[in-house]
Amino acid sequence: MGLRIVMLGAPGAGKGTQAVRMAQEMAIPHISTGDIFRKNLREGTPLGKQVQGYLNSGGLVPDQLTCDIVADRLQQADCANGYILDGFPRSLPQAEMLTAFLAGRGEKIDVAVNIDVPDSEIVERLSARRSDPDTGAVYNLKFNPPPAEIADKLIQRDDDKPETVQARLQTYHETTEPIIAYYEKQGALVNVPGSNAGPDEIYKRILDVLPK
Ligand code: AMP
Repeated sequence: MGLRIVMLGAPGAGKGTQAVRMAQEMAIPHISTGDIFRKNLREGTPLGKQVQGYLNSGGLVPDQLTCDIVADRLQQADCANGYILDGFPRSLPQAEMLTAFLAGRGEKIDVAVNIDVPDSEIVERLSARRSDPDTGAVYNLKFNPPPAEIADKLIQRDDDKPETVQARLQTYHETTEPIIAYYEKQGALVNVPGSNAGPDEIYKRILDVLPK
């Protein structure tokens, strides 16, 4: 049985980068609510239209809507052997709904990995984040540079532009950070220092603290 994992940390802390790698190596799905919302936005689906305003302003999509989408996803067959949730839960009500949903199935989150990066570094990182529109791969011009041959096609997420970054950080501190204590109380929290190291080193730090 694989693990049911939640990734915690500010936007830009490296959750997504680490989650993708962990999911590959553990052969379990990587479920990013941000990716789900962005895909719907790109495709102009009804959900995309519903969430557009929240994403553009750096605010949070309403809890119930977000939880319904995650509950749907977790019931798919590929989640039977564990998964990595990235960007969810993002508020205490979401964390509580997730606990209740899992309890109803006799399940629980095994581990919440909190990647800890100071705010000053977050702002610097988000402004240097770029992604490949074809593959969705995420790079950082400073900390995780892309291969030179694809550098020209990389794009910056609209919500990584400076006007939105401050709003997202504020949302993180006010609404998302309390989840760290929630998982600590459940005995599921592990903390990983996320600065002064590249993605390979952070990955090693995570493997060191995951339950064996
Ligand atoms: P992310 O890629 O995780 O930074 O998410 C991008 C945006 O999607 C966020 O700024 C929110 O507007 C929205 N979003 C992603 N996950 C959630 C969530 N769990 N709850 C509410 N909104 C979310």
